[in-house]
Amino acid sequence: MIPNWLIQRSLLTPERIALSFEEEQWTFKEANDKALILAEKLIANGVKQQSRVAIYAPSHPDIIWMMYACMNLQCEMVLLNLRLTEKELAYQIDDAAVDFILVEDLLLEKLPVNKVPTLTFNEINKSHQLDFDLASEWNDDETMTIMYTSGTTGYPKGVRQTVGNHVSSATSSVYNMGLVDGDCWLCTMPLFHISGFSMLAKSLLHGVEIKLYPKFNVKEIVNELVAGTVTRMSVVSVTLERIISELEARNAKVSPKFLTMLAGGGPVPIDYLKRAEQRGLNVSQTYGMTETSSQTATLSSTDALRKLGSAGKALFFNQIRIDGAEKAFDQGEILIRGPHVTPGYIGRFADKSSQENGWLHSGDIGYLDDEGYLYVVDRRSDLIISGGENIYPAEIENVLVSHEAVREAGVCGVENDKWGQVPNAFVVLKERINVDELLAFCKEHLANYKVPHQIYIVSELPRNGSNKLLRRKLKELLNKE
Ligand code: AMP
Ligand code: MG
Ligand code: MG
Repeated sequence: MIPNWLIQRSLLTPERIALSFEEEQWTFKEANDKALILAEKLIANGVKQQSRVAIYAPSHPDIIWMMYACMNLQCEMVLLNLRLTEKELAYQIDDAAVDFILVEDLLLEKLPVNKVPTLTFNEINKSHQLDFDLASEWNDDETMTIMYTSGTTGYPKGVRQTVGNHVSSATSSVYNMGLVDGDCWLCTMPLFHISGFSMLAKSLLHGVEIKLYPKFNVKEIVNELVAGTVTRMSVVSVTLERIISELEARNAKVSPKFLTMLAGGGPVPIDYLKRAEQRGLNVSQTYGMTETSSQTATLSSTDALRKLGSAGKALFFNQIRIDGAEKAFDQGEILIRGPHVTPGYIGRFADKSSQENGWLHSGDIGYLDDEGYLYVVDRRSDLIISGGENIYPAEIENVLVSHEAVREAGVCGVENDKWGQVPNAFVVLKERINVDELLAFCKEHLANYKVPHQIYIVSELPRNGSNKLLRRKLKELLNKE
């Protein structure tokens, strides 16, 4: 059991700043008060304690209060990615079998037609309140959040993250990074991803401020870093590069008050680490995933150049093992164990176990060096990471072959200066069709970042003896073009 985070935090440090956004600020006491009132309004609208609710809203204080209200109700929050198309949203809403959808008013029209009771933020805010029996403590194994990640099958999986998962993640993170007076996380990460949501958990558990930006605004962010008005921030390599370039353009250095730039979600090019160092920017590389409720391993910035390219060591509660490795530097699948690992999935993957003998199989390939530092050498199952968003080739291939003119499709990631990688597709046709039509079809079915940058029409796809598509050979087709 753990005390209700909101009540406990508001009891411990009521006057400390919880959140700032543009010109406004709220203390933890104000945050708690807001969350309680909203929870009573949700109850008045039929939401029950422990209901499963989808939340669909942009990064703004309103979504934070809504999430805090849902926490007070111990609801399971299915956090919907803002970039999804109507069809992708429909899949998740259906798969999660949510009891309610809570939606920011302007996004209402983007929701697919569905039968789920839907409440807009305005409706909820204007509602009357109804008393309920507020839980003063939560169980470790209660599901707090559900986030969909694409799977190798092409069907996104709803990953459960429990109260205990988030507590252990936030705790091992702070054991690793420490906590200072005046700590403040600059948040530009989407709150529907674990990178963003884990900041809310840290804020409540550690009592630190979040400075929320609705989107990534490099000029304002660099102003904060140079002035030292924030102490920590999370980035993916694309956003890290933009920050470094802006610092270089200004010939500026980061304030020594700024402590940690946590870079994760994919590999960080070594060149960025070297350039960051020149700007006084302390980059801590981290390895983690939705299934591990954020960080699993982290490299301290002091080791960044000594252990170039490493994702660091396991955090305190976590263990990392390389499947089949007998000694240092042996490569194999990265296996993870610890209280931060998801207990499993929901919906169509509810019966799929997340672990084997207590270990999560990451699907990523890596090795540990002789000092126990983790190196990730290859990503699971042809995963494409584009601007920090994961893309599974199978998901795009499924869409392409669902088009009547397409017989076969294969997708691979191609290096791209701006996004790291972007998807390219190869199709074998049944009927004549032009590429623009196929692209339009993809746009209708897939979030923008998943739409192939190029579609090539070919006469056959590279396959092995048992007819399995060889995605890594697709790139060779490109070189032949
Ligand atoms: P997600 O569930 O969206 O957080 O994606 C997790 C996946 O991103 C991991 O399984 C890895 O394939 C990849 N990833 C995360 N961090 C790193 C890293 N430091 N280096 C390489 N790949 C990473
Ligand atoms: Mg239900
Ligand atoms: Mg990611």
